[in-house]
Amino acid sequence: MAVYLLSAEATFSAAHTLPGVEVCDRLHGHDWRMRLTVRVEESHMGEDAMGIDFRVIEDIAKHAVADFDHRYLNDLEPFKNHSPTAERLAQVICTAASRQLAADAPHASVEQVELWELPQYRVVYKP
Ligand SMILES: [Zn+2]
Repeated sequence: MAVYLLSAEATFSAAHTLPGVEVCDRLHGHDWRMRLTVRVEESHMGEDAMGIDFRVIEDIAKHAVADFDHRYLNDLEPFKNHSPTAERLAQVICTAASRQLAADAPHASVEQVELWELPQYRVVYKP
Protein backbone atom coordinates (compact mmCIF):
# COMPACT_ATOMS: atom_id res chain seq x y z
CA MET A 1 0.00 0.00 0.00
CA ALA A 2 1.58 3.22 -1.14
CA VAL A 3 1.41 6.17 1.22
CA TYR A 4 2.10 9.86 0.94
CA LEU A 5 3.97 11.66 3.69
CA LEU A 6 3.35 15.40 3.67
CA SER A 7 5.03 17.95 5.93
CA ALA A 8 4.79 21.54 7.01
CA GLU A 9 6.83 23.47 9.53
CA ALA A 10 6.25 25.98 12.29
CA THR A 11 8.69 27.85 14.50
CA PHE A 12 8.50 29.35 17.96
CA SER A 13 10.80 30.88 20.54
CA ALA A 14 10.72 29.64 24.12
CA ALA A 15 12.88 29.36 27.21
CA HIS A 16 13.37 26.46 29.59
CA THR A 17 15.60 25.04 32.26
CA LEU A 18 16.39 21.35 32.62
CA PRO A 19 17.11 20.66 36.30
CA GLY A 20 19.98 18.28 36.87
CA VAL A 21 21.38 18.60 33.35
CA GLU A 22 24.76 20.27 33.19
CA VAL A 23 24.65 23.72 31.52
CA CYS A 24 20.96 23.16 30.56
CA ASP A 25 19.99 23.80 34.20
CA ARG A 26 20.65 27.49 33.52
CA LEU A 27 17.78 29.56 32.15
CA HIS A 28 18.17 29.72 28.38
CA GLY A 29 16.09 29.89 25.24
CA HIS A 30 15.85 28.32 21.81
CA ASP A 31 14.37 29.23 18.46
CA TRP A 32 12.59 25.92 18.03
CA ARG A 33 11.75 24.50 14.60
CA MET A 34 9.03 21.88 14.30
CA ARG A 35 8.12 19.75 11.27
CA LEU A 36 4.79 17.97 11.32
CA THR A 37 4.58 15.02 8.92
CA VAL A 38 1.22 13.43 8.17
CA ARG A 39 0.46 10.16 6.42
CA VAL A 40 -2.24 9.61 3.81
CA GLU A 41 -2.77 6.23 2.19
CA GLU A 42 -2.99 6.36 -1.59
CA SER A 43 -6.47 4.84 -1.44
CA HIS A 44 -7.59 7.84 0.64
CA MET A 45 -6.45 10.43 -1.90
CA GLY A 46 -9.08 13.01 -2.77
CA GLU A 47 -10.67 13.58 -6.18
CA ASP A 48 -8.32 16.56 -6.42
CA ALA A 49 -5.30 14.18 -6.37
CA MET A 50 -4.16 15.68 -3.09
CA GLY A 51 -3.58 13.77 0.11
CA ILE A 52 -4.19 16.84 2.23
CA ASP A 53 -3.78 20.52 1.52
CA PHE A 54 -0.37 21.74 2.79
CA ARG A 55 -2.15 24.76 4.26
CA VAL A 56 -4.16 22.46 6.53
CA ILE A 57 -0.97 20.84 7.81
CA GLU A 58 0.63 24.25 8.30
CA ASP A 59 -2.37 25.53 10.24
CA ILE A 60 -2.29 22.47 12.51
CA ALA A 61 1.48 22.81 12.99
CA LYS A 62 1.19 26.50 13.91
CA HIS A 63 -1.72 25.85 16.25
CA ALA A 64 0.13 22.99 17.99
CA VAL A 65 3.04 25.26 18.98
CA ALA A 66 1.17 28.54 19.50
CA ASP A 67 0.82 28.11 23.27
CA PHE A 68 4.61 27.79 23.65
CA ASP A 69 5.72 30.88 21.74
CA HIS A 70 7.55 33.44 23.91
CA ARG A 71 6.88 31.42 27.04
CA TYR A 72 8.93 29.88 29.83
CA LEU A 73 8.06 26.24 29.23
CA ASN A 74 8.66 25.05 32.81
CA ASP A 75 5.67 27.17 33.91
CA LEU A 76 3.20 25.52 31.54
CA GLU A 77 0.78 22.78 32.55
CA PRO A 78 2.18 19.95 30.36
CA PHE A 79 5.56 20.38 32.05
CA LYS A 80 4.50 20.64 35.68
CA ASN A 81 5.55 17.05 36.33
CA HIS A 82 7.91 16.49 33.41
CA SER A 83 10.99 18.51 32.54
CA PRO A 84 10.43 20.38 29.25
CA THR A 85 13.00 18.45 27.25
CA ALA A 86 12.86 18.38 23.46
CA GLU A 87 11.53 14.82 23.74
CA ARG A 88 8.66 15.77 26.03
CA LEU A 89 7.86 18.88 23.99
CA ALA A 90 7.71 16.84 20.76
CA GLN A 91 5.33 14.38 22.41
CA VAL A 92 3.02 17.14 23.67
CA ILE A 93 3.02 18.81 20.24
CA CYS A 94 2.25 15.46 18.60
CA THR A 95 -0.74 14.87 20.87
CA ALA A 96 -2.18 18.31 20.09
CA ALA A 97 -1.60 17.91 16.35
CA SER A 98 -3.13 14.42 16.31
CA ARG A 99 -6.25 15.67 18.04
CA GLN A 100 -6.74 18.51 15.56
CA LEU A 101 -5.89 16.36 12.54
CA ALA A 102 -8.51 13.80 13.59
CA ALA A 103 -11.09 16.60 13.54
CA ASP A 104 -9.95 18.43 10.40
CA ALA A 105 -8.74 15.57 8.17
CA PRO A 106 -9.73 12.16 9.56
CA HIS A 107 -8.33 10.34 6.51
CA ALA A 108 -4.83 11.45 7.56
CA SER A 109 -2.75 10.57 10.63
CA VAL A 110 0.37 11.98 12.24
CA GLU A 111 3.43 10.06 11.05
CA GLN A 112 5.98 11.96 13.13
CA VAL A 113 6.97 15.20 14.73
CA GLU A 114 10.52 16.48 14.30
CA LEU A 115 11.71 19.16 16.68
CA TRP A 116 14.98 21.06 16.45
CA GLU A 117 16.19 22.92 19.53
CA LEU A 118 19.35 23.86 17.66
CA PRO A 119 20.09 23.52 13.95
CA GLN A 120 22.27 20.49 14.72
CA TYR A 121 20.05 18.92 17.44
CA ARG A 122 16.77 17.26 16.44
CA VAL A 123 14.42 14.79 18.09
CA VAL A 124 11.96 12.67 16.09
CA TYR A 125 8.81 11.50 17.86
CA LYS A 126 6.69 8.79 16.24
CA PRO A 127 3.33 8.19 17.93
ZN1 LIG B 1 17.63 23.98 26.03
